[in-house]
Amino acid sequence: MSHLRRPAVVLAAALAAAFLAAPGTATAERPGPARETVNGKHVIAISVDGLNPRALTKLGRTGTPNLHRLIKDEGAGTVNARTQLEMTVTLPNHTSMVTGRRIRAGKGGHGVTWNDDTVTTTVQQAAGHEVDSVFTQVHEAGGTTAVYATKSKFWLFENSWPKAVDKNVIEVEKNGAVVKALRTDLATDPASFSFVHLGKPDQVGHDAGWMSARYLRAVGQVDKLVGSIMTQVESTPSLRNNTVIVLTSDHGGIPGTKNHAIKTSREDYRVAFAFWGAGVPHTDLYALNPDRANPGRTRPSFGASPQPIRNGEVANVSLDILGVGPVPDSLWDLGQDLAWK
Ligand SMILES: [Zn+2]
Repeated sequence: MSHLRRPAVVLAAALAAAFLAAPGTATAERPGPARETVNGKHVIAISVDGLNPRALTKLGRTGTPNLHRLIKDEGAGTVNARTQLEMTVTLPNHTSMVTGRRIRAGKGGHGVTWNDDTVTTTVQQAAGHEVDSVFTQVHEAGGTTAVYATKSKFWLFENSWPKAVDKNVIEVEKNGAVVKALRTDLATDPASFSFVHLGKPDQVGHDAGWMSARYLRAVGQVDKLVGSIMTQVESTPSLRNNTVIVLTSDHGGIPGTKNHAIKTSREDYRVAFAFWGAGVPHTDLYALNPDRANPGRTRPSFGASPQPIRNGEVANVSLDILGVGPVPDSLWDLGQDLAWK
């Protein structure tokens, strides 16, 4: 619960304000919540677009040494997290990652159901009302945010939260270039929250098929890029002891096909979810989270209890790491009880 980790000085100020505002009158207005301030940590959220965890098994530690370090050998991870239920496509799932909402607007979701590159509608227009995000919450808490993405559809975030996305680097199909931009910023002026989208496995999967030789090569290339981010964190004194990487995917993809849109296929809905960095123990993520249930081969519905770990938990757990409360009206990890340390 984030409010327990709120800096003591802020709590004390809130208590003092409450005392001053209510001098013995039962009708005095309650003060608003204390304004939270980011705690100085850094979160780097990485989404590997279209990463079917089978690729990690197929390539092994030799072919994907860095993803193995992050998910299995050093971090707290699982390769059995779940996507959103309504769709297993890119933009809807990424919008869930940054808003903590499900997809369907009529059920409190963000309403982003399209996946093309036209960015004429904002998340707010899709939902039909105001929608906050990890970006707005970090920004309101005095932190900074940055987006590094490899598909032009990610302009959606800057367009939807122009004041809260401080930096927006979009280099279409240039995975190396966006990681280079991130590493430059990490070395000089790292954001509190950085969101990194690496699209190469998805791009090659659509072209050559999931689990094809070319797809596996793309996963190997992304592994190297993720490793370079890990190295940057480890070799930068100001980051080493206060940075956490959160890694997941929007969806997998069906081996032998160029398709990942069948939401009821385990090849599509099974994704990795992992934490790595300062304070993160080396453990299985479900072992660390007894109030989340490893779903085995199943696809638990919204009503299932406990829930599996889902890619939509990125927003609120990132805010938890930064010492900030959850995105208002969000769904996934609203209680910020997903343990990462
Ligand atoms: Zn795709």
